[in-house]
Amino acid sequence: MYMAWMEPSSTTLGKTKELIKQGRERIGQTIKASGSRLCSYAERVVFLMDHSRSPDKSTQPPTPTDNINLGPSANPNAKPTDFDFLKVIGKGSFGKVLLAKRKCDGTFYAVKVLHKKTILKKKEQNHIMAERNVLLKNVKHPFLVGLHYSFQTSEKLYFVLDYVNGGELFFHLQRERCFREPRARFYAAEVASAIGYLHSLNIIYRDLKPENILLDCQGHVVLTDFGLCKEGMEQEETTSTFCGTPEYLAPEVLKKQPYDRTVDWWCLGAVLYEMLFGLPPFYSRDVSQMYDNILHKPLHIQGSKTVAACDILQGLLHKDQKRRLGAKTDFLEIKNHVFFSPINWDDLYHKRITPPFNPNVAGPADLRHFDPEFTQEAISTSITHTPDLAASSSSASDAFLGFSYAPTEEDI
Ligand code: AMP
Repeated sequence: MYMAWMEPSSTTLGKTKELIKQGRERIGQTIKASGSRLCSYAERVVFLMDHSRSPDKSTQPPTPTDNINLGPSANPNAKPTDFDFLKVIGKGSFGKVLLAKRKCDGTFYAVKVLHKKTILKKKEQNHIMAERNVLLKNVKHPFLVGLHYSFQTSEKLYFVLDYVNGGELFFHLQRERCFREPRARFYAAEVASAIGYLHSLNIIYRDLKPENILLDCQGHVVLTDFGLCKEGMEQEETTSTFCGTPEYLAPEVLKKQPYDRTVDWWCLGAVLYEMLFGLPPFYSRDVSQMYDNILHKPLHIQGSKTVAACDILQGLLHKDQKRRLGAKTDFLEIKNHVFFSPINWDDLYHKRITPPFNPNVAGPADLRHFDPEFTQEAISTSITHTPDLAASSSSASDAFLGFSYAPTEEDI
């Protein structure tokens, strides 16, 4: 079955997509079951929960009702009832992402809702204590999702983000099987530009995975979820927390060896490979086989790709992190690779390059590119009012003409 993708017909393509989806689900389950140290966005928040406590409480563990220091993005006057919550558009490990319309001006946002309780359950003290918080920094880049502000209730945290509605990059990739080099180059360059910027702030993104690469309504890349960003890593520093998406795991991460910022260049290689070939590098339906492939199998590049493409893939997917492209001068090495020679990086940064594909969305409320699994999530009829949600409950359900589903009270 593995080879079926090489001779695509609509039937084999459909089957293959299904297999990849199943494979990904299985991989995810295996990772969860293994008790590996999957960590997330929420962990950084837990760190803040620990550090925003008053001195007399500092020896006690944090509780879910503790107030959290959300950094400069905190808006103390904001509350859930400021919004009509319209749709569930995505799920992460610690909460959901909802499409929301701000009542005062009708602006659409993606609001990420995290449960303090769930975050606390998953916390891993030592790891968290070693991190400082990305939220406390002013992280702003054209290809990183914008955080407008954040707020909290006694139980939940809310992050008000740009609503990005061009769909997941890999949603488009699955429809087209693979991209030609110029298109793959454009997306890879925008991703690399965002990673280079994070590295310049000593942040490792770490969680580059298909579902975190979105397209905006014009077709530019937007990276979401800074969940696994590891901050405070100087050039030579390494960390050994086990994080990441299974199929994009770098060998050093799999081996639980210390890793550094070159882990992001491995992930860039994995994304580029998947864009060009339609499957992740070293892919196997059998998870342990795939891990073995990542660790030991030489990179196999088939088909008629340019020498430049083969060379950059070999460089980014080098198993030895010290010899990987980017190990010496980081983003500069990637930028200067011949594969990216058609890219004017200044034009790219300023969005002066027309994207190779226009997602053709009708407007901010157009959900055509989102997975129906999320956008058609059925609502529960049992609504339990919590004090801070009571006022929004009626408007949430009838807020958006034309939508047949809305989030549950639990979601918001
Ligand atoms: P995350 O928890 O950030 O990984 O988000 C889970 C999913 O929600 C993503 O894979 C996206 O499909 C969706 N999502 C996250 N952030 C946004 C956003 N700002 N705009 C639109 N969709 C988003």
